[in-house]
Amino acid sequence: MSRVAYVNGRYVPFADAAVHIEDRGYQFADGVYEVMAVRNGRLADLEPHLDRLDRSLAEIFMNTSMSRRALAVVLEEVVRRNRVIDGIIYLQMTRGVARRDHAFPDLSKTSLVVTARGMPPRPTAILEKGVNVITVPDIRWQRCDIKSISLLPNILAKQQAREAGAYEAWMVDEEDQITEGSSTNAWIVDDAGDLITRHLDNAILSGITRMVVSDLAMRQQRRLVERSFTLKEAEHAAEAFLTSTTSFVTPVVQINDTPVGGGAPGPVTRALYDLYEAHLSGQSTA
Ligand code: PMP
Repeated sequence: MSRVAYVNGRYVPFADAAVHIEDRGYQFADGVYEVMAVRNGRLADLEPHLDRLDRSLAEIFMNTSMSRRALAVVLEEVVRRNRVIDGIIYLQMTRGVARRDHAFPDLSKTSLVVTARGMPPRPTAILEKGVNVITVPDIRWQRCDIKSISLLPNILAKQQAREAGAYEAWMVDEEDQITEGSSTNAWIVDDAGDLITRHLDNAILSGITRMVVSDLAMRQQRRLVERSFTLKEAEHAAEAFLTSTTSFVTPVVQINDTPVGGGAPGPVTRALYDLYEAHLSGQSTA
C-alpha cells in the first residue's frame, strides 16, 4: 500500500509530496505543527491538540481560512487513506509561499501539510527497564510555549542524547531547573508519591500528554504539584518519568550517571502508564 500525504488541498503520493522552495516554513521555519497519536484508527485527544494549534497560530499572528471541522476531516482522511491503525499523524502549517522577506507577506495562503504513519508497538523493555536521560543547557528562545517548527536547539539536544546512548536530553535553565526534554515533558515523583512537573509558562510546551496524565492522576486522588525542580532534586527523586504523544509515559531510571529510584521504574510511573494506555484505548472504542 502506498503512502499518501495531504499538501495544500490535495492528497498526493507520499513520494511526490513537496512544497515550494519559497515556502516560509522552509525558508524561515515560520510555522507551527502538531503531532497526534492514532489509536485503533482514531485520532487521540484531537480537541486539545486543535486548541493548542489555534493558540500557536494566534501567538505567531498566523491566520488560516480552514475551519476546525475541515481540518479534522483532512486529518481523518489522511489516517484513512494511509490505513493507519496505531501510529501518528503530523500536521504543519506555515505562513505560505512568498518572496523571501522577513516581514509577513501581504498575500500568502497558509500552507498545510499532513502526513501519517503506522508505528510498531513500543519495545516492552522501555517500560520494564526504563530509559536514561542526559542533561544539556536549555539554549532555546523565550517562547517555548509555541509549538514552532523551529526546532534546532531541540534537534541538537536530542542528537547529543543519541550520541551519549541516552533516550532523551533534559534541558536545564540558568537557575539549574529542569525545564523539559527536547521533545517530552519531564516529571518526578517525591517520597510521598506526589507528582511534580514544571508549571506552564513560556519556558516549556504545554504537552497534551502532560495535561491528560495530570487529569488522570488527579482523578485517582494523586497530588500534583506544578513547579520547577532542580537537577539535584530529580537525582534524589523516588521516581522520574517523561511524557509525550510518541513516548506516552516512559520511566526514567538514570539522569547522566546517576541512577534514579534505585535504577528501576517505580510503581507510580507504572500506574500512570496503565492509566494513560487505558485512556487511549478507551477513547478509541468510544
Ligand atoms: N515538549 C516539547 C519541547 C515537545 O516537542 C513535545 C512534543 N511535541 C512535548 C513537550 C510533549 O508534548 P505532547 O505531550 O503534546 O506530545
